[in-house]
Amino acid sequence: MTYRAGRHFLQLPGPTNVPDRILRAMDRAVIDHRGPEFGRMTLEVLEGLRPVFGTSAPVFVFASSGSGAWEAALVNTLSPGDRVCVFDQGFFADRWAGVAQRMGLEVERLPGDWRRGADPAALEAHLTADRERQVSAVLVVHNETSTGVTSDIAALRDTMDRCDHPALLMVDAVSSLAAMAVARDAWRADVVIAGSQKGLMLPPGLSFNAVSDLALAANETAALPRAYWDWTEMARFNEAGYFPSTPATTLLYGLAESLTMLEEEGLEAVFRRHARHAHATRLALDAWDLVNHCADPERYSSAGTTVLVPEGTDANRLRRVILERFDMSLGGGLGPLKGRVFRIGHLGDFNDLMLAGTLSGVEMGLEVAGVPHRPGGVHAALTYLAHEAGAEGRPARG
Ligand code: PLP
Repeated sequence: MTYRAGRHFLQLPGPTNVPDRILRAMDRAVIDHRGPEFGRMTLEVLEGLRPVFGTSAPVFVFASSGSGAWEAALVNTLSPGDRVCVFDQGFFADRWAGVAQRMGLEVERLPGDWRRGADPAALEAHLTADRERQVSAVLVVHNETSTGVTSDIAALRDTMDRCDHPALLMVDAVSSLAAMAVARDAWRADVVIAGSQKGLMLPPGLSFNAVSDLALAANETAALPRAYWDWTEMARFNEAGYFPSTPATTLLYGLAESLTMLEEEGLEAVFRRHARHAHATRLALDAWDLVNHCADPERYSSAGTTVLVPEGTDANRLRRVILERFDMSLGGGLGPLKGRVFRIGHLGDFNDLMLAGTLSGVEMGLEVAGVPHRPGGVHAALTYLAHEAGAEGRPARG
């Protein structure tokens, strides 16, 4: 291996760049996870997580990747043979459906289009046909990281209300949390699932379940086997600031710092920053004459943009060229999108110049790899970012 000067650009839609402040916060000796200092920190962290999930209800933290929190949501609320419906909306929704299947649940797939969000009409048809109220849970991914398409969770909740259907609503917010507004209480989502390695700017290794009273009630009768993921035991320990098993102490130091940073910037400002970077990225795409995989402007993602490459182009070859020549990692196409798309992550600890560097790497990569495109994407993005920066600095006209 030869030394590569300068900083690697990690522009995946997660894991994201871990800021120095968080790295420094984690660079501490491990303390006694049953001691008073740890207990105080946990209580603060558990409290501090609530606004990020848009909830006043409990948030459980696991030492696992996001997939663990998928499993935790299911095993804590459901029983063998229960029916759950999942939207055909992308690679991660499919993976979650696979977890449900392996847990012994009956998975019903709602028809969908990977270039558009989860369809409330498909849900309405399904729930209306379910006269016996046999469907126990609706599973939806808020931001499908594979497709760059978001779903309107409030509209899905409205649909469930209109159908007067008692199913639990479970929302995967793994790649939307702390990048876009997640509103557990307003959505009346029964479980919101998340991971540490995206908007929270942490390394991989923590996952989350934010839960409703209904979900906690379902926990009392749910019969799927569970041990490590059990909320009841977790809640009992959390009350005093502890965990049933050894927690990821170092990541929790990082989480405490991440929550402080989000509070300092302000969640609304964090969401605006993500929206601005996503918009700038789309302007670059338009100028390059490349196509956004998300076909519905209402459902664009602020966390990541999935880009379709022209017919005859191998998106993975482009990614390879960009990695080798410009030391930048972009996300690849997952499942059926392999080779057809590349994914630009613009979430987490990210600013205008980092986006400028990212888009420059893409534009140079398109040129070097000989991908048909028009020049000028970076210019279009920078013009917009400069205008936005100017607008922020100018006093409001009265
Ligand atoms: N859900 C979404 C939307 C994701 O983007 C991911 C991973 O990228 C997962 C779930 C799975 O999380 P993990 O890979 O942390 O297990």
